[in-house]
Amino acid sequence: MSDFNGLLKQSNLIDGKWIGADGGGEIKVTNPASHDTLGHIPNCGAAETDRAIAAAARAFDDWSRSDLSQRTGLLHKLHDALMDNQEPLAQMLTAEQGKPLAEARGEIAISAAYIKWFAEEIRRAKGEIVPAPSADRKLLVTHHPVGVVAAITPWNFPSSMLARKLGPALAAGCTLVAKPATATPYSGLAWGALCQDVGFPDGVVNILTGSARAIGGAIMDSPTVRKVTFTGSTEIGKELIRQSADTVKKVSMELGGNAPFLVFDDADIDEAIKGAMVAKYRNMGQTCVCTNRFYVQAGIHDAFVERLKEASEALVIGNGAEAGVEQGPLIDTGAVEKVESMIDDARSKGAKVVSGGRRHAKGGTFFEPTVITGATSEMTFATDEIFGPLAAVFKFDTEDEAINAANATDFGLAAYAYTRDLGRAFRLNERLEYGLIGINSGLITTVEAPFGGLKESGMGKEGGSQGLEDYLSTKYTCIAGLT
Ligand code: NAP
Repeated sequence: MSDFNGLLKQSNLIDGKWIGADGGGEIKVTNPASHDTLGHIPNCGAAETDRAIAAAARAFDDWSRSDLSQRTGLLHKLHDALMDNQEPLAQMLTAEQGKPLAEARGEIAISAAYIKWFAEEIRRAKGEIVPAPSADRKLLVTHHPVGVVAAITPWNFPSSMLARKLGPALAAGCTLVAKPATATPYSGLAWGALCQDVGFPDGVVNILTGSARAIGGAIMDSPTVRKVTFTGSTEIGKELIRQSADTVKKVSMELGGNAPFLVFDDADIDEAIKGAMVAKYRNMGQTCVCTNRFYVQAGIHDAFVERLKEASEALVIGNGAEAGVEQGPLIDTGAVEKVESMIDDARSKGAKVVSGGRRHAKGGTFFEPTVITGATSEMTFATDEIFGPLAAVFKFDTEDEAINAANATDFGLAAYAYTRDLGRAFRLNERLEYGLIGINSGLITTVEAPFGGLKESGMGKEGGSQGLEDYLSTKYTCIAGLT
């Protein structure tokens, strides 16, 4: 079996040493396309987490006061190490997660881009000297690293979700304890190997795998951890917010979504279909910003559905490692069952399956890209995240109706709209209750812009200049008696 250029780590990184779990426990990791065993990772718990937090706290003293040039220099080396290893890292990501290799290569590239962005952005994290009310005083506003940061990440983007946390944390001068998802631990562990290779000091980056509850519990209980940055489901995010209260930690939460995709009669249909395919089927529909609900205006509805059906049926399904494959397997059988139950629910409430609708003939967790029409607000996908290759199409008549339906959810992460009316584009910007809005584009994530949700999709931003703010504390210092 490939060791992906030595980057497949079967142990955990604490204080610069690669270790197993105290009790020797391990968890098997499998490839969701082939079901081959990729390896075994340590099943760590609270004791190992406490040691990782202690190591991060010891390392914080020097790291937080290190020269900015040292930190940015190491981050630039980390960027280069990632890009030098783009191919083995992408292959490893596809092997553990299932997404097509082309998407995995893209994820490694954007991970590297986040590291470079924050290496640059920290150089612009300026403070202020505020005009003082009296002449004998100077009022300083300065920024400082928040302290030890814990990062908990999901399986759908196992590399880039950590990049968006590790980059700003290390740039700001924080040290880190990270817990990647159990289904896809290797892309997370590889960050530890690369950080070590390029010379980050011991204890600055620590990476643990194992029991989410035990590791998460130790993180949340620790008064040493000053910030928790989490990407995952809204359900677990809410639990962590509650747990953060006892030690008043800073939290940032990138949670679930239920993205609407509005297509107005005046849309460019070719562009709308292009955007729909990427916003629906990227990562087999398993992204937080994936379209959950297509709202299509009556005049363009039938043409749009026909084109969406054709494009969905043309998708090449298979093992993501094979050339030309555009849709891999879903992450596990639970994901398949969720999609199936949503299709059954919609059918029983009058929707029509116009394409797909079943497990794919390839077996395992492969699923047919599915298009449903006649969707209504009573169906489960109107309120719940699908996280699979199911395109549900609702029909609407007026702009008001579409906006109200789009906003009728507890989530507020991403929304998309296709229209050539400039006035409408601005009305959508004002009225859509979403943190990310794509007008005439189905793919808008970029390192330069703040990524993050409103409402129950979370708090805090990743990327952009805002992505650094959560890792910095602001102090006000008054120096008096200066006459
Ligand atoms: P999840 O079940 O919430 O898990 C996310 C991470 O939290 C994993 O590392 C998981 O560990 C860990 N975890 C689970 N229970 C925990 C607990 N009690 N305490 C501490 N940590 C715990 O989510 P997922 O299924 O991996 O990811 C899919 C979700 O992530 C979707 O809802 C998606 O929308 C959301 N997401 C949001 C964004 C965004 O930027 N807003 C981006 C990507 C994904 P284990 O793996 O060991 O269970």
